[in-house]
Amino acid sequence: MDTGDASYIKQLNRRILIEEIIKNISLSRSDLSRNTGLNKATISVQVNELINENIVVEKTEGESVTRGRKPILLEINGRAGYSIGIDIDELSIHLAFCDLKGNLFHKQSIPLETADFDEVLHQLLHHLSSAVSHFNEQYHPIGLIGIGVGIHGIVSNTNEIIYTPKQQWSHLHVENKLKETFDTPVYVDNNANLCVFAEQVYYEHIPDLFCITLYSGIGLGIINNHDIYRGYHGFAGEIGHMIVEPEGLPCPCGNKGCWELYASENILKKKLNGRYPGLSAQESIERLLASTEEDELLDQYLDYFAIGLNNIINIFNPEKIILNGAIINGHTHFIDKLEEKLTSKFNNYLQIRASCLGDDACALGGAAVALKNFFGVNILNHVNYHYFKSDLLEV
Ligand SMILES: [Zn+2]
Repeated sequence: MDTGDASYIKQLNRRILIEEIIKNISLSRSDLSRNTGLNKATISVQVNELINENIVVEKTEGESVTRGRKPILLEINGRAGYSIGIDIDELSIHLAFCDLKGNLFHKQSIPLETADFDEVLHQLLHHLSSAVSHFNEQYHPIGLIGIGVGIHGIVSNTNEIIYTPKQQWSHLHVENKLKETFDTPVYVDNNANLCVFAEQVYYEHIPDLFCITLYSGIGLGIINNHDIYRGYHGFAGEIGHMIVEPEGLPCPCGNKGCWELYASENILKKKLNGRYPGLSAQESIERLLASTEEDELLDQYLDYFAIGLNNIINIFNPEKIILNGAIINGHTHFIDKLEEKLTSKFNNYLQIRASCLGDDACALGGAAVALKNFFGVNILNHVNYHYFKSDLLEV
């Protein structure tokens, strides 16, 4: 074996061990050896390195297995550092701060009154600077390990913001300023991609997962074999611009009859507002769903929603689809009504459910992407930590 091979294998073993410690929360060196098949000498060397780097800590809180001796357990050193996820939307920026164990310990929302890119960046840096200097003192010695940024638009595979329909940003870079200011790695991605990643990390650790985000537009995040599927240049999943009406409404994308002009939650909100002026979208939808009679407004909306969903299901044959939108998240009954409209014999899937992460999903996904890169792992699994257990919906 030459040294190149040796260093490759060392890296590989390190990755396997970190993945295993994260997934199991807390385990002994013998558990690690049993679970990974690596011998105890290898584990001892690698674990010592991880402890020296402050990534792993030893705990002795486990139950006694042999008389008088408690096993020494290994855990990720949550307090040693943290990552930041940023969701830059049209009217606000959401920030999520997660420790090295992926625990969300702080979140913040910055209202925006401008779409000017430089001004948005200026406000973001202003808020981040004070937070970073504060949390660097609390989460040490490693401190900030990386930042993941979600953009509501198309982001290229090289972190470039290609186009955002709402702010009309094109060919801009957000990562350089952040990298420069905080001296940390920065990852930029589409919001739906980060949403589906967060769902996988925190709730559904399956290799293939789909998440449809339904706020002002409609996006689709796809995880294929544990990787975010981005397509040739990073444009994959622009499902809101699938045409559902050949001579339909004109769309800013240049086509007519795009799905999001008929099935986004913004459209539903506008219709509800016309029907029940003065009531909030939540109150209006509750009133509609409570009615036992068929309602044309809801029926038409669900018809359009079902057209797009039918197409996604028939193209991908998904195991699970998660729907994330402000209205849909609180109303599983809404999904029942939607599923009644999926009548094709080809519609094969296991489950469609609402997101449990809601509008935190994108920022959490950004923080999780930074953690995944910091640890150098292929799989980041926080499902066993049950961080958002109180929000778990019946499935
Ligand atoms: Zn369009």
